[in-house]
Amino acid sequence: MKAFEATKFFFDQAADQLDLNKNVRKLLLTPQREVQAQVAIEMDDGQLNTLVGYRVQHNNARGPYKGGLRYHPHVDLDEVRALASLMTWKTAVVNLPYGGAKGGIAIDPRQLSRRELEFITRKFVDQIHTFIGPDIDIPAPDMGTTAEVMAWIMNQYSKYHGFSPGVVTSKPVEHYGLPGREEATGRGVGLLTHKVTGRLGHKANETRVAIQGFGNVGTHAAKFLCQIGYKIVAISDHTLAVYNNDGIDVNEAMRHAYANDRMLKGFKGGDNITNEELLALDVDVLIPAAIGGVITEENVDSIKAKVIVEGANGPTFPLADVKLAERGTIVLPDILANAGGVSASYFEWVQNRQHYIWKMDRVRQELDSVMTKAFDEVWYHAQEHKVSLRIAAFMIAIERVKYATALVGIN
Ligand code: NAD
Repeated sequence: MKAFEATKFFFDQAADQLDLNKNVRKLLLTPQREVQAQVAIEMDDGQLNTLVGYRVQHNNARGPYKGGLRYHPHVDLDEVRALASLMTWKTAVVNLPYGGAKGGIAIDPRQLSRRELEFITRKFVDQIHTFIGPDIDIPAPDMGTTAEVMAWIMNQYSKYHGFSPGVVTSKPVEHYGLPGREEATGRGVGLLTHKVTGRLGHKANETRVAIQGFGNVGTHAAKFLCQIGYKIVAISDHTLAVYNNDGIDVNEAMRHAYANDRMLKGFKGGDNITNEELLALDVDVLIPAAIGGVITEENVDSIKAKVIVEGANGPTFPLADVKLAERGTIVLPDILANAGGVSASYFEWVQNRQHYIWKMDRVRQELDSVMTKAFDEVWYHAQEHKVSLRIAAFMIAIERVKYATALVGIN
């Protein structure tokens, strides 16, 4: 199933609950604008390479478009479209004054030199600078893009429009960024894992967690949960998966990854397993925090975790999600679980616009407050309407976007 179809599946389930008519569904699902731009570059070896960059602006009824920029070989328009619409629902469910967008270029940043990467980024900004801006559309990092890439975007955009730190978020802390942005998504995932297991009456020190993906989201979720007493029994990345019944030493794993180009390969803190085995472990909580589409119709029956917290975007395919709901597995959906990142991005944008720097304590406090409020709303909505947390989150988000659209009209 293509990525956009999968998002539409969840949207339609919630829209059925809300009894939305087909015209409103079409209005809310259709992206408002899709930009495709040529990005031509002379590579370091002298060859000419012509790339295509995408920016899909899905909906801005609730505020400027907001969403990441992905550099990955598999990027295509369908995926960018799906991710853009997920951003609309994500910003709405945590009630940020933003809409949703996403961008991407089909490149493998690991195969490019720093000069090539910077050139591609600046060239893409040359092509789309009239479509983005602090009050129009605010990109951020996603897979394959970093704080440094954001600094290049800010710099290139500012050449056209003057000093504009608010045009992108997740910039380096030393360059108009926000202390605490880097940890925010993982912290939010950890915090909501704690909230959901608390609701189920589980004690932190008796709760066993497996985490797929040991990048930004996975490491910070692991660190947060470890600090409050959870036992992380398995971690993985694209190079290695390890299991330790007594609990992985998360700090040691982080030290190892930082020293090895962010890879777990060679980490000796447990028994080696496969990523498929990690997903099927008999744990209380499973946190997919790597890539999309890892929980499928084929492997869903092997999954034993009672709670799944979606750190990654789109890790669960629709038919697998239906099966999980039928058998009572609790799935905390991506649009809520990983919204800590965009929430901190919002704080950064506010800070940039006010030229007032927030302290880390304030960032954490405000982040925890946004995430807790959104979690409570989704939890009660799910109970009240007897639907899954995912459908409850979509219902709340769709209602908010629909209401804003009705207020502003379509003229
Ligand atoms: P990252 O690049 O820092 O880390 C990704 C991790 O996944 C790496 O450890 C990588 O080795 C691992 N991985 C890749 N392919 C894998 C595979 N096939 N099997 C197992 N592990 C694999 O990325 P990130 O920022 O941590 O993002 C992870 C996910 O979270 C993505 O889906 C992203 O869209 C989503 N997300 C990230 C943020 C954020 O603020 N970083 C916010 C919202 C959502």
